[in-house]
Amino acid sequence: TPLSRIRNFSIIAHIDHGKSTLADRLIQKTGALSDREMTNQVLDNMELERERGITIKAQTVRLDYRANDGEVYVLNLMDTPGHVDFAYEVSRSLAACEGSLLVVDASQGVEAQTLANVYQAIDASHEIVPILNKVDLPAAEPDRVKQQIEDVIGIPTDDAVMISAKTGLNIEGVLEAIVTRLPPPKGDAEAPTTALLVDSWYDAYLGVIILVRVKDGHLRRGQKIRMMSNGSTHVIEQVGVFRPKMQPVDSLSPGEMGYVTAAMKTVADTNVGDTITDDRNPAAAPLAGFKPSIPVVWCGLYPVDADDFEKLRESLSKLRLNDGSFHYEAETSAALGFGFRCGFLGLLHLEIIQERLSREFDLDLIATAPSVVYKINKTNGEQIELHNPADMPDGSVIDTIEEPWIKATIFVPDEYLGSVLALCSERRGQQVDLTYVGTRAMAVYKLPLNEVVFDFYDRLKSISRGYASFDYVMDGYEESDLVKISILVNNEPVDALSFMAHRSQAEKRGRSICERLKDLIPKQLFKIAIQAAIGSRVIARETIGALSKDVTAKCYGGDISRKRKLLEKQKEGKKRMRQFGKVEIPQSAFIAALKMD
Ligand code: GDP
Ligand code: MG
Repeated sequence: TPLSRIRNFSIIAHIDHGKSTLADRLIQKTGALSDREMTNQVLDNMELERERGITIKAQTVRLDYRANDGEVYVLNLMDTPGHVDFAYEVSRSLAACEGSLLVVDASQGVEAQTLANVYQAIDASHEIVPILNKVDLPAAEPDRVKQQIEDVIGIPTDDAVMISAKTGLNIEGVLEAIVTRLPPPKGDAEAPTTALLVDSWYDAYLGVIILVRVKDGHLRRGQKIRMMSNGSTHVIEQVGVFRPKMQPVDSLSPGEMGYVTAAMKTVADTNVGDTITDDRNPAAAPLAGFKPSIPVVWCGLYPVDADDFEKLRESLSKLRLNDGSFHYEAETSAALGFGFRCGFLGLLHLEIIQERLSREFDLDLIATAPSVVYKINKTNGEQIELHNPADMPDGSVIDTIEEPWIKATIFVPDEYLGSVLALCSERRGQQVDLTYVGTRAMAVYKLPLNEVVFDFYDRLKSISRGYASFDYVMDGYEESDLVKISILVNNEPVDALSFMAHRSQAEKRGRSICERLKDLIPKQLFKIAIQAAIGSRVIARETIGALSKDVTAKCYGGDISRKRKLLEKQKEGKKRMRQFGKVEIPQSAFIAALKMD
């Protein structure tokens, strides 16, 4: 296909504004799938994604469209993830395209993610076409929202496309705008091959599949390619495009998007952002890649049943093949045994991986408290990155500790602004900006990431009845007065429960976790002390009274089978317990104890 008849574009939107529905309509309208094959949201193909109505991994689809000018165009659509945790995946999708459709719900207006995404698209030098969706709704106010887009984002909306993705109204308008308003890609078919590795995942039949965007030259079957980051070479087995089903083609030429398989075995050979070139005629320099993803939240994952350790290792390595932004390394905990320290892009990412491990791999896991990455400057001048509070060095060798900060943008209706500001200041936030967009306030805050990872988003949603929207970017490290809080059960430290906090919050957090553990740990035959401590100084304490009688005493002698049932039930419960010295702690206690507020 000549470059002039290719258009590569993404759809960007705040969650629920209709991105997936519009993608479905474009696929349907261009006839890529028959009506029978068309299920809702064909691009959200992972079970979890469908259930939660979010897109996690970027998906791509190639559409053929005969435009009003009579020419047939190849339209490559890259879907982008719709949650803050996956902002990094948005940037990689955008790097593979020249333009974006900015979808805004005409009944809701601009939200935090609309802004965050549009800034990324502007950074990627995209041409942007504003689209007002859901104009079928009685509550739609397209004129007001157009004005808002001009005021807040600063892009003209005279040519905004008014649509209803749900009813299919004016989908042609979107297709024509793609062809007439977005620029074609640039590239040189005669130059040495360069292609951007946009994504990779594992397929049970084909092995590792890589998603590519060709810049110059070609990718063909049988060609020997070289990964420019590490020099490894591979012979291409299959080249193809997504329609959205995989369809082999002879070659991919400049400006095109598609997939390549090449019997690749190791994750290191499929680095997202890498440049692929021809081994015999290599390019001089790689394409400008994009920043690698850096996990910002870490936690330990341990099998409840120690025998599952190897199974956990295998499952993690399979997940990793599908998700380059997920990291893991083996670790041991005195309390929990053998497990893995895992790095995630955010809390949703953590939750999704945990859920996939239990659902797809049938693993029962204990997760330790999520922690951000601290930088510790030691008195000897050395700097270490702390991924696990349990590894905190002795206070005497620590000079200073730095913690990561974020810059958050929050959109909220006026009436909830007070509670949102209170939440931000309770979490050590510093206000950067506060402006109004109609009746909605836009608050920009700097916040320590550690105050956000636990439950900030949930709290924000609950105090604003779901109306607040939130997005953030990392904003560097700053020195801070941080302490490690240890939790002791019967004078034994439980490493999996230790956590870092700002000194001003230490006592409150310590007290709340002790109180919670008091309710979560079942009474035993002796008294149990639960303490929170900074070093050797105890800052909070609770006591669980001793259990007076055997549980079977409740049965008043009598029914023997009932008694047996009770004992069996107890045994069943034991499997999900962890033994700490003489004390057993139920698995649920870990998870519950680690939630804040
Ligand atoms: P995404 O999160 O941006 O991918 O949003 P979805 O495409 O999943 O849409 C979110 C919700 O809005 C779904 O319930 C859709 O059915 C609904 N929706 C999408 N487009 C329209 C529209 O044009 N009109 C109306 N009334 N609802 C729509
Ligand atoms: Mg979606």
